[in-house]
Amino acid sequence: MSKIIATRAIRGAHSIVNKAEEFYKRMLSEKGPDAKIGFPDTAYYLPFIYAMLGLKITKLGELEQVLKFSRSLLAPIPSERVWLPYLGNTLDCGMATLFAEEIIEVLKYLENPNFVKEPWLGFTSDAILREQGIKLVDGRMPGFAAIVGAAPSVEEAVKLVRALQERQILVFIAGNTNGVSIAEQLSQADIQMGWDTFIVPYGKDIYSAIYALNFAVRGAMTFGGLTPKGRKEATDILLYNKKRVHAFVIALGEVDDEKFATAAGAINFGFPVIADTDIDQILVTGVCTYEHVVSPVPLDKIVEKSIEVRGLKIKIEKPPIPVSYGSAFEGERVRKEQLAVEFGGKVSKAFEYLKMRNMDEIENGKVEVIGPDIDTVSDGGALPLAIMVEVAGRKMQKDFETILERRIHTFLSEASGVMHIGQRNMIWIRISKEAKNAGFRLKHFGVILNTKLLSEFPAIVDKSQVKIFTKLEDVEKHLPEAIAAYNERDERLSGLTDENVDVFYSCILCQSYAPNHVCIITPERLGLCGAYNWLDGKAAYEINPNGPNQPVIKGTCIDPVKGQWEGVNKVVQEKSNRALEKFNAYSIMEFPMTSCGCFECIVCVLPEANGVMVVNRGFSGMTPIGMTFSTLAGSVGGGQQTPGFIGVGRLYLTSRKFISAEGGFHRIVWMTKELKEGLQERLKRRAEELGTPDFIDKIADETVATTIEELLPFLQKVSHPALTMPPLM
Ligand code: SF4
Ligand code: ZN
Repeated sequence: MSKIIATRAIRGAHSIVNKAEEFYKRMLSEKGPDAKIGFPDTAYYLPFIYAMLGLKITKLGELEQVLKFSRSLLAPIPSERVWLPYLGNTLDCGMATLFAEEIIEVLKYLENPNFVKEPWLGFTSDAILREQGIKLVDGRMPGFAAIVGAAPSVEEAVKLVRALQERQILVFIAGNTNGVSIAEQLSQADIQMGWDTFIVPYGKDIYSAIYALNFAVRGAMTFGGLTPKGRKEATDILLYNKKRVHAFVIALGEVDDEKFATAAGAINFGFPVIADTDIDQILVTGVCTYEHVVSPVPLDKIVEKSIEVRGLKIKIEKPPIPVSYGSAFEGERVRKEQLAVEFGGKVSKAFEYLKMRNMDEIENGKVEVIGPDIDTVSDGGALPLAIMVEVAGRKMQKDFETILERRIHTFLSEASGVMHIGQRNMIWIRISKEAKNAGFRLKHFGVILNTKLLSEFPAIVDKSQVKIFTKLEDVEKHLPEAIAAYNERDERLSGLTDENVDVFYSCILCQSYAPNHVCIITPERLGLCGAYNWLDGKAAYEINPNGPNQPVIKGTCIDPVKGQWEGVNKVVQEKSNRALEKFNAYSIMEFPMTSCGCFECIVCVLPEANGVMVVNRGFSGMTPIGMTFSTLAGSVGGGQQTPGFIGVGRLYLTSRKFISAEGGFHRIVWMTKELKEGLQERLKRRAEELGTPDFIDKIADETVATTIEELLPFLQKVSHPALTMPPLM
């Protein structure tokens, strides 16, 4: 442990706490102690302060106590000659720094709510936190890197960030080196930034690093179900991060006192610091899993070194294609100006279809392109497309076709410059000019699919080959076969009911973030993330018998109406680490299923309307319960049972078992327009099944009502059936 680091971190902490105090005093005299303060779209107050101190701060004057506390953590600045044998003082100063930084940032919002300007993003909302949390949960993101400063050149900046993206590591950016930030270097090189591409520029000064840390503490609260109260809970939250959030700091360029102080704060989370310049190392272990500060590491080695120091497990199976590849590119869009060629959507006929074959019918790894390739089309043009994938394997079964086929979307979108939307015969694919110029051709679709199917499904796929057709007559010739297969698959699931199977499937995929959460997936109630239905659970279990999906033998039925079984309860107790005793699969009021945080929709009871409302992720407006999706999500996630609230997959809404214990489908009094439109066909079918074909028109949406006062008269007017159903509460 070095005295220089300690001295500089402590000096930096003093400087930042002073600045926070000055800013506070100035705001106090301008706005008064009762001025409302807070970050946009969060239910966690000032998240870092809340997590560490349990304080729910909403007014300016309440910051006084936090500042006092920060000051009390500050050790006197040691003279350069004093030897500090351990980290204690430095770590405390790190905490003081983070409190002060959160105060500075929230005061910026108070001073000017619109201070965040492109390319910066500022505070991360709870909604985004949840959405990104899923990626941390399912392993799409192995961890995050907080980059502080700037690279020596634009080229080096791009190389560094690409290396992180290819490893699916989320990149947070804060601070600058001599007035330049790596975010500015990236935007000079025209690199797409934002949550979709895993590059998140928080802000140009070092104080914005707090956004990465208040993202991390909210992760522990949202997914880990930890509620802050005091010191013990604060420690739990920090430990949660050390164990489960694989983050580290990359410090580029000169490290000044304030950066040292911020780094000392990050070390409290178990996040080590790796620097490219020569700063003093802290190689002892203790707070972090391995070393705390490592330097100097050459820029081209820094990603490898960080992964080693943080102990990240990353498997990269990059298919041999001429563009970058990885889930960081999954959400990347190809805009019209960047377009080389597109397929499907509104512009041409296109579909994708995966089918099982016998072993001897397949030549492993073969790719055939039949018809014109993309370099025959002028930029911005279109082609018809059929992607026909054929797989074989000793353990392959027909039931797995859907699961493999559904992965085509992810596999193709992960190529940089390829955008893939939809599935089956509703796909829309775009390839960018950049990818085309780099040498990307249609055969690479085949290369990607063969590589990924073999590497991701070794238990069931032994051989894979791909045929790609781009002539309209070929596409039309093969389409009917694919459509017949799609229909047949749908039939298979729709014929299944909860009564006519003996096993359900459990899913604990989300336990890496919500340690007490378990989903029970039944034929008529899919996983709340919407990604796993009963057939998927079955297939996943057969593919990987030791995996996160296990069969659950229903056993004796305790309550057929509420949906409770002995066998299910046993598994729920076991897998929730005894946090839960029982589940009712069909009830929202009594022992409802829990949520991790990944739910596609939230259903909650509106007592005044004697019904329920449904809001989907992504809807940012107000709802009749007086809360937005992100606020509501705060009370639903974390693996706790909250009667009156459930997180569900959207397809559950039209299931016969949708809250059937409380009367089911007809309880829906309000849902977002987006949901209504997206589920149109299914909603209609369900309403007809119940003999109420006009029911959908009786469900209000945000164009009719966003408050309960607006909702009630509407329900009266349309004679909504919920009004005459037995009381919910
Ligand atoms: Fe997570 Fe449940 Fe989806 Fe499994 S089914 S991934 S536990 S939300
Ligand atoms: Zn989840």
